[in-house]
Amino acid sequence: MNLDSSFPGDIVTTNAAARAVRGVDELRAALASARREGRSIGLVPTMGFLHDGHLSLVRAARAECDVVVMSLFVNPTQFGPNEDLDRYPRDEERDLRLAGEAGVDVVFAPGVAELYPDGAATAVEVTGNLTSVLDGDPESRGAGHFRGVTTIVAKLFNIVGPDVAYFGQKDAQQAAVIKRMVRDLDFPVQVQVEPTVREADGLAMSSRNVYLEPADRARAVALSRALAACEQQAIARDSLEAGLDAARIELAAAAIEPEYLEARDAETLEPVEGLTGRPILVAVAAKVGGARLIDNVVIE
Ligand code: AMP
Repeated sequence: MNLDSSFPGDIVTTNAAARAVRGVDELRAALASARREGRSIGLVPTMGFLHDGHLSLVRAARAECDVVVMSLFVNPTQFGPNEDLDRYPRDEERDLRLAGEAGVDVVFAPGVAELYPDGAATAVEVTGNLTSVLDGDPESRGAGHFRGVTTIVAKLFNIVGPDVAYFGQKDAQQAAVIKRMVRDLDFPVQVQVEPTVREADGLAMSSRNVYLEPADRARAVALSRALAACEQQAIARDSLEAGLDAARIELAAAAIEPEYLEARDAETLEPVEGLTGRPILVAVAAKVGGARLIDNVVIE
């Protein structure tokens, strides 16, 4: 697909590695003709080190949009001071190859200074319950994590101008926060959330799974097993508490102490007392060996 005559990387949907665009202006130039011609643009924001979860978002975008843009950016502002920013896995060459094979048209892979120029002093923040519970709890990653996420996603929306942006259900709270931001700030973008992609044994795919030593990799499957048990027991016994008990038992059997295991309204993240008739998000976070993992299930 010819994106713009002034854009040397043109074409795509070949199996060649995708070309990385580093600058905001260059990216806008690359997308100018597509935008002028009214072709739809899909955006898949990622921090790279791609796996099939990321590529499932690309497949959805490829099926629905004329032009697919992926961003690769390990966003420093969403990492806390004691988190894994420095050791976060990176392999841009491999990412560009996988993105190209999956049919990404343009990969936007800026340096930190391109997105956070000297003197940057603006942030976008969704306040309240959505960002203060679960991962936003001060005992967990804290609301600063989501401030970093919404700031970078708002910037990417402004830079790319996508019609549709694709996010994974794996990060359910992130998706809820971004939907809120889009509604509140009237971003002209449709937010699409795609199902969590899992390894054969159930472990949710994550770039951070590379941190797992073999013994911890075996234990890590307890997260998805706990959530499956939770859903199954909650429905079978018509009791959310019975579901959560079943989940706690699975985690304990793997010697996993969850950072949180909570049931909340899937849209508002307000606490729920029991099965409400509305979709309920059951979310878990736990440190397993060197990796902090999250996973969730929605009980419909
Ligand atoms: P990340 O690179 O971890 O920031 O993730 C980039 C996007 O991919 C986010 O929208 C994630 O929710 C999504 N994602 C990550 N892991 C998975 C997965 N296992 N299944 C589906 N989507 C995922």
